[in-house]
Amino acid sequence: TSFGFRTVPEDSKESLVKNVFDSVASNYDLMNDATSMGVHRIWKDTFVGDLRPGRRGPMRCIDVAGGTGDIALRILDHAREEYADRETSVEVVDINAQMLKEGFKRFKKTMYHNTPQVSFHEANAQSLPKEKFLDNTYDLYTIAFGIRNCTSIPDVLKEAHRVLKPGATFACLEFSKVNNPLLAAAYDQYSFSVIPLLGTILAGDRDSYQYLIESIRKFPSQPTFAQMIRDAGFSTGADEDGGAWTDLWGGIASIHTGVKV
Ligand code: SAM
Repeated sequence: TSFGFRTVPEDSKESLVKNVFDSVASNYDLMNDATSMGVHRIWKDTFVGDLRPGRRGPMRCIDVAGGTGDIALRILDHAREEYADRETSVEVVDINAQMLKEGFKRFKKTMYHNTPQVSFHEANAQSLPKEKFLDNTYDLYTIAFGIRNCTSIPDVLKEAHRVLKPGATFACLEFSKVNNPLLAAAYDQYSFSVIPLLGTILAGDRDSYQYLIESIRKFPSQPTFAQMIRDAGFSTGADEDGGAWTDLWGGIASIHTGVKV
């Protein structure tokens, strides 16, 4: 695939994103490790660890833009290992069937395969089918490195709010804005030279990775995103690092949480 990502109109973003993830699906986990030098694993561990799924008993979770199931697997492992909980469940939702297929293959090798603890669903985060994803249903909604790929962030948040139970948690892990100018410069340099190169070498697909970097740059800053979460009807902590969000590695990524009111 080849496309000029700078000129893609918003209305064709969805098919573009679909193509990107089609072309990277089978290499996705490898590329994640290579481009982030394994750091995404640490961030995902922090993300799920802080949520402590299972602490207050079994939870019904939905992991949107769940891809190959990285977050779902961590949620189930955390609940089982920390709280001996084998009833918490995760519905993995993604717009891309190829990514879900990779996830399904991977779960086949786990103890969760063929249990009610995990299931895979093809759907758009911006318009989860209402008859399948009912109002006020889930105890936890997670979305990791997925919301920036969606055309409308407010629509995603609105759907998250709809399907969560009152008092339940929305949690998002996403690339974010680096605060320190020196670190920001180094990170820019790295992402614009090293990542597309790795994309070419490992996946034979430079454009897809170039697109992913662009999408990171366009994503709102921490306070702007926190406000969007509140606008969707969630309450958050105070508008600062450690309040409405937690910066990881100086803001290369951040975790935003909100509680449905
Ligand atoms: N959450 C996984 C993880 O952290 O490893 C996957 C992240 S991957 C970078 C982004 C995922 O978002 C892809 O699997 C892609 O198909 C999915 N995606 C993009 N737009 C979407 C949408 N509108 N609705 C649902 N999923 C979407």
